Amino acid sequence: MQKTVIALATALLATGSALAAYPEKPVTIVVPFSAGGPTDKVARDLAEAMRKSMNGQPVIIENVGGAGGTLGAAKVAKAAPDGYTLLLHHIGMATSPALYRNLPYKTLDDFEYVGMVNEVPMTLIGRPSLPAANFAELRTWINANKGKINLANAGLGAASHLCGLLFQQAMGVDMTTVPYKGTAPAMNDILGGQVDIMCDQTTNTTGQIAAGAVKAYAVTTSKPLSTPALAKLPTLESQGLKGFNVSIWHGLYAPKGTPKAALDAINAALKTALKDAEFIKREEALGAVVVTDGRINGAEHKKFVEAEINKWGPVIKAAGQYAD
Ligand code: ASP
Repeated sequence: MQKTVIALATALLATGSALAAYPEKPVTIVVPFSAGGPTDKVARDLAEAMRKSMNGQPVIIENVGGAGGTLGAAKVAKAAPDGYTLLLHHIGMATSPALYRNLPYKTLDDFEYVGMVNEVPMTLIGRPSLPAANFAELRTWINANKGKINLANAGLGAASHLCGLLFQQAMGVDMTTVPYKGTAPAMNDILGGQVDIMCDQTTNTTGQIAAGAVKAYAVTTSKPLSTPALAKLPTLESQGLKGFNVSIWHGLYAPKGTPKAALDAINAALKTALKDAEFIKREEALGAVVVTDGRINGAEHKKFVEAEINKWGPVIKAAGQYAD
């Protein structure tokens, strides 16, 4: 009897100290796109805010771009479930299942869901030399250049892919898509004039639009935005693209089987980070809206992602897009 009590007490102590100790080494957040792009920017700001409640341990970003975000997601799905490898991903988490016949992970089964981070609108932008000053002129230019237009994106499954796909459908025009490992390198080619147009998160485009470095044509949300640099842009819906409404979101994930104690600590750090005044200010300046409600919760976020899979799957399948 005494032995059992001692063994139990030792086990409890061990669990308690493991809990109190997490994290006891740096935590890595995998970003499934290139450094310097919109997902990366959110992740780096979030890592900085989360670090404050992670036992003083660094939170490191690892960029694993390629295949529209699925390579990075696959890496995390297969990583050790010890709380030291996390994934920050966007709407691609929900669009990839419809796009890839052989997705190398099961979106709803291979991850622990930590919570939702933010919502981010998108913008339609063009190379600086594009001879169209506003959306009406862009439409004329697109119709006059059918078959010659290049549309940049971050690969099948990226937010820019989804938005570009819906834009082509709404315009009834097929464009040549140019895939990158993220929209940071795509933005470089827009700035350099190598590609014509791109649909990308405001977290990547706001600075370039404010500086007048790219042509800005529209926002993809159903309502105009209040961010100063974006407030003058019309919605695509108001320009005749009926029902056009794309806003993306980010969520935080861990490999399936990550211990509950670690997941609870990560969720607590996420909740604290999403209340961090500096983080909120940086996100708002880039048009993003930080989640502050019950959606910073694993079970809630999983339900949301499932609903998004069901929402976008038929839209993507109707457009006939998929990859092996
Ligand atoms: N904005 C990219 C996308 O189209 C991803 C990125 O580079 O962060 O999904």
